[in-house]
Amino acid sequence: MTNIILLGPPGAGKGTQARKLVEERGMVQLSTGDMLREARTSGTEMGKKVAAVMDAGQLVTDEIVIGLIEEKLSTVKAPGFIFDGFPRTLGQADALGDLLAKHGSTLDAVIEMRVDDAALVARITGRFTCGDCGEVYHDVTKPTKVPGVCDVCGSTNLKRRADDNEDSLRTRLMEYYKKTSPLVGYYYHAKKLHVVDGLAEIEAVAAEIAKVLDNPAT
Ligand code: AMP
Repeated sequence: MTNIILLGPPGAGKGTQARKLVEERGMVQLSTGDMLREARTSGTEMGKKVAAVMDAGQLVTDEIVIGLIEEKLSTVKAPGFIFDGFPRTLGQADALGDLLAKHGSTLDAVIEMRVDDAALVARITGRFTCGDCGEVYHDVTKPTKVPGVCDVCGSTNLKRRADDNEDSLRTRLMEYYKKTSPLVGYYYHAKKLHVVDGLAEIEAVAAEIAKVLDNPAT
């Protein structure tokens, strides 16, 4: 069993790489962002509570996201989990360590996807996804072959996130540097950190991640 964290600012490519690992290795992606968006769509009380915070690009409380992860770890069986967008604070990082220990499991590697900030705005503002299968596209770098139709599943339900605009992105980046980037030092000293170049081609990044997964202790 291999459990990893994909760490990096919005637009670093965490979701894209997580999807590949799910397809290729049967790992299970735990994205707190996806869970929160699902709670909003299904109109739960929690979903309503976090909607404005998410749209503004701020972090929701540790209590809420730790609760979501705890529930998944108690109910989902997997050959390995990919934590995508979690943890985002030191409190969440401590809680994850405790939760994994409680389930007799450990964290094997943290992969920091390092990117140049100037690239992030362009990456994020052109981004859209398939609402049915989750495939990620970009207006310029990865458009659909047929406009308006998902290459993978043929759906026409293509969506843009409400928080993928320049204002929210600026807040999301500030939140990342203020609250999430300390995790780089935290995991470096826990001897779990691996750094990959998030600006490389998707396949090249995937190859770097595969190397870590095949030998997480190095
Ligand atoms: P993401 O899809 O990971 O970019 O997350 C979208 C939004 O959901 C973030 O901007 C936050 O508002 C919220 N969110 C997702 N994961 C977390 C987390 N681990 N801690 C706090 N807020 C989160």
